[in-house]
Amino acid sequence: MGPRSRPVLTPEKRRLVATAAARRVLEPPWREICAIFEAAGYDAPGRAKFTVTTDVREGCRHFAATTGDEVMFAPQMVDLPFDSCAGIMAHEAGHVVDLTAPCRYWWQGGELVEAHVVDPPSRLIGRWNARPHDDVERIADAIAMMVVGVKIGYVGSPGCVVQALGRGRRRPKDLR
Ligand SMILES: [Zn+2]
Repeated sequence: MGPRSRPVLTPEKRRLVATAAARRVLEPPWREICAIFEAAGYDAPGRAKFTVTTDVREGCRHFAATTGDEVMFAPQMVDLPFDSCAGIMAHEAGHVVDLTAPCRYWWQGGELVEAHVVDPPSRLIGRWNARPHDDVERIADAIAMMVVGVKIGYVGSPGCVVQALGRGRRRPKDLR
């Protein structure tokens, strides 16, 4: 057979192969994190749709995102050290717990505060939705640390830091 005139493994197909391979690597540890949350009484992460997609890769430090109903991980997560991979997953599970319980979690006086509100009025939901970005991120870490019992720190160079389970410094302010 002579050389083909065009590549069969197109960039699009290569992306699909890489994503499928990453899914096989990333789903088992995600399910382990979900099982830890479930054992602590939080079943929301395990119910969220698990997706591996390059869509969440916006910058050097963006490997994951969640809507509450769905968690999305970038295939590049497989290249991270395991403690960062696990730290990011625990952080996203923290977001899922927070986002699926409107008005329950707040950040007050530098710590996680849990409110027990039944039938929150729309005014309170509005306030909860308007929580500052930094608060929402610290809440996700605090829930994750409360559940997994291990500190989540931040590692990497300035401008490109990611979570790491059990090591690293405090979350930098205004980190997006
Ligand atoms: Zn986050």
